[in-house]
Amino acid sequence: MGDTIFDKIIRREIPAEIVYETDDVLAFKDLNPQAPVHVLFVPKRALPTLNDATAADAGLLGKLMLAAADYAKREGFDKDGYRAVVNCNEHGGQTVFHLHVHLLAGRRLTWPPG
Ligand code: IMP
Repeated sequence: MGDTIFDKIIRREIPAEIVYETDDVLAFKDLNPQAPVHVLFVPKRALPTLNDATAADAGLLGKLMLAAADYAKREGFDKDGYRAVVNCNEHGGQTVFHLHVHLLAGRRLTWPPG
């Protein structure tokens, strides 16, 4: 197990507003939301970045994206739409090195991102 802030949330060592959980994925509200809805989907088995994923992780990556889509449907964000993104390393804006998918919803999002 890694020792990022997200590992501590998964181990329930620090609090988080958990909104969704499966055997493989945990999702909780982002502390610094960038949209009315901003939820982070993290695999319980840590990979630092998307670069570290291999073919052996295909199932886990699929589960991560499907969890985000399932949550979006469950909460009714699917019709208006939402964004699910992964930041990777410095230029991608990654700050926590435990792979995660940001789910952003609740407003019209602009493109391209900053
Ligand atoms: P990144 O920049 O793509 O790595 O995203 C990391 C995200 O984690 C940022 O949006 C932060 O606001 C968020 N974050 C950092 N610490 C916590 C926490 O303790 N709880 C919830 N979200 C956090």
